[in-house]
Amino acid sequence: MEVARTIESVRSLVKAARGEGKRIGLVPTMGALHVGHISLIERAVKNCDSVVVSIFVNPTQFGPGEDFEKYPRPLEADLRVCRDAGVDVVFVPSREEMYRSENLTWVDVEKLTEPLCGRSRPGHFRGVTTVCAKLFNIVAPDVAFFGQKDAQQAIVVKRMVADLHMALEIFVCPTVRQADGLAVSSRNEYLTEQQKKDAVWIYKSLQKCREMIEGGVTDSERIITQMREILNRTPSIEIEYVSIVDAETLQRVERIGGKVLAAVAVGIGSARLIDNILVDCHEQ
Ligand code: AMP
Repeated sequence: MEVARTIESVRSLVKAARGEGKRIGLVPTMGALHVGHISLIERAVKNCDSVVVSIFVNPTQFGPGEDFEKYPRPLEADLRVCRDAGVDVVFVPSREEMYRSENLTWVDVEKLTEPLCGRSRPGHFRGVTTVCAKLFNIVAPDVAFFGQKDAQQAIVVKRMVADLHMALEIFVCPTVRQADGLAVSSRNEYLTEQQKKDAVWIYKSLQKCREMIEGGVTDSERIITQMREILNRTPSIEIEYVSIVDAETLQRVERIGGKVLAAVAVGIGSARLIDNILVDCHEQ
């Protein structure tokens, strides 16, 4: 496994692999790798001949007062995870390498970035799409792997790729959960043992949503009220949003039909946690 710290070195490694006719896969991450990331890497290893994992805590997707400084950066452990998973190249650029001087060029996807996390994190998705555009230009992968855990991010990145005619495919992998249902996240590290137990109610509220839809309830407000009730029973949970939206447009739906995304964002202690499920009503 190679560790590339510069754009030039990762480009030359990818160029060599491409010269051998290899299909290149990219897994963009911010490190602190866990089983969720590993599932993406394993999918990439299965689908591609050469896999690049990027590890970069992207400053432009963090807002003022967010956790950029304290975000975990266990690089040695991350490199071991990558090696064990069969990664070919780990790209670990510095901030200066990715943002050489004042960055004047940004990629901004409209509309899809306004609801859900866009409301409380202005500029977040602009940071995400800009760094993804940079990574796609640097690595030029055939396919990049994202997690359903960050559903809005996957949808926004897919739209950027389509709108800008970028020559790669975006593959979205299912959310990896703990046995108790909590979606695995680097930010779970911020939780105390009690808060980890409390956080289980996030997924329970989403399961309630699925149960109600499967039971024939189509009034989304009724479902959201139930979900909020479940979350409000746990005092350490502070709800940011509970939404049921169209899975493609991310616009609110009043009457549930077709494919919907139920999404939750909460604060617990110092952590902001998000989770979601997709429910396809055509399948009922
Ligand atoms: P991050 O390092 O948090 O930026 O995440 C990097 C990628 O891993 C993103 O595409 C995430 O959606 C994905 N990811 C994070 N957690 C999970 C999880 N529990 N299951 C599946 N994918 C995940």
